[in-house]
Amino acid sequence: MAVVGPSRHSRVSMSLMQGSTNGPVGNHQQASASQQFFHAQQQSHHAAQSATAHSVDYKPDRPIGYGAFGVVWAVTDPRDGRRVALKKLPNVFQSLVSSKRVFRELKMLCNFKHENVLSALDILQPPHLDFFQEIYVITELMQSDLHKIIVSPQQLSPDHIKVFLYQILRGLKYLHSARILHRDIKPGNLLVNSNCILKICDFGLARVEEPDETKHMTQEVVTQYYRAPEILMGAKHYTAAIDVWSVGCIFAELVTRRILFQGQDTVQQLELITDLLGTPTMEDMAHACPAARSHMLIRRMKKPSMSLLYSLSSLMTHEAVHLISQMLVFNPDKRMSVMDALVHPYIDEGRLRYHSCMCKCCFTVPLTGLRHFCMDYEPIAPQTFDDKWEKKLSNVQQVKEELHKFIGDQLSSHRVPLCINPQSAAFKSFSSDV
Ligand SMILES: [Zn+2]
Repeated sequence: MAVVGPSRHSRVSMSLMQGSTNGPVGNHQQASASQQFFHAQQQSHHAAQSATAHSVDYKPDRPIGYGAFGVVWAVTDPRDGRRVALKKLPNVFQSLVSSKRVFRELKMLCNFKHENVLSALDILQPPHLDFFQEIYVITELMQSDLHKIIVSPQQLSPDHIKVFLYQILRGLKYLHSARILHRDIKPGNLLVNSNCILKICDFGLARVEEPDETKHMTQEVVTQYYRAPEILMGAKHYTAAIDVWSVGCIFAELVTRRILFQGQDTVQQLELITDLLGTPTMEDMAHACPAARSHMLIRRMKKPSMSLLYSLSSLMTHEAVHLISQMLVFNPDKRMSVMDALVHPYIDEGRLRYHSCMCKCCFTVPLTGLRHFCMDYEPIAPQTFDDKWEKKLSNVQQVKEELHKFIGDQLSSHRVPLCINPQSAAFKSFSSDV
């Protein structure tokens, strides 16, 4: 354990969004317990928890976001009064594909243990198997996300950008080390709280990387503005490099406060990319489908013009442009990895700030004020994510039974299981939201 004295950042905590950019998080409107979403089961046997629940200064349950595959609410956990996020995964068992996708997302959420990756705190007790249709997951409540911050008038200093970028890369290193491709890295999927802690969320499109290059992977991934050129050009197989491309786009967006490549469609998206990077060589289009390659070859040749990045913002330093230009490389085989990005000099200050006053892995000794820094600033996952279980599931009923069992296994014997209070006004509104 290294002992290092206080650095110039050590007493400076970062903050954003006093009052929040995301609606009335700080709204102290009272709501009675009967209106609350949850009741903890067997409250009479757990008088202590019940007493805690009733002493809570309730804030109203309310929707905070709508993802591609569900709605998210901010609610109060009656067991400890803590504000948490509740995500409803509806219509889980409509098809084998959708039910396996939900199972995969849930397994990932329960598996993750990293400060910069969102994980499940709890899952609501499911009803009997015959009535099992939807799943409710509780995660930590985060006040905002990078999209909301970027489009807000909130000032973003170079220090903010560095510490956000560091945390994105730190979380992504963990995911990639588990062999997980996120496949939808975009500002809206990077949650941020008021202390500037960032967590990668929404694993609805995530999957384990495919080692077999002859196996086809879906191209219906990644929001278009952040989609890597190999996917735009119809590559049948791709790697974790697609997530790095998305991070490069987000990095530029953080600096300039505008979307870097905002194409109307796939063709224009590629056009904008080549305006900046120049026309790719045949080697750089090795993963592209023949039609996309031909399309590129009949267009006029363009020269790279990365220096244009300097004109987009006064915050575009040489180091920032150097890093962006290594993330935004057309050829995924030549694009830097997350590991490469984390050793780039631009990242150093973000790392120092994060571990000096924001992380949970290092700590300050109260009496001396000395900071104990951890040995491994960017830990990898203890094991790779196993997806063999998925291949054995061949019909919806089988997935339903396995998923029901999985949730039952996750329920902690030390906590009172939570279930929905169907009488609450909030629940009625929540149900009609999806
Ligand atoms: Zn630390």
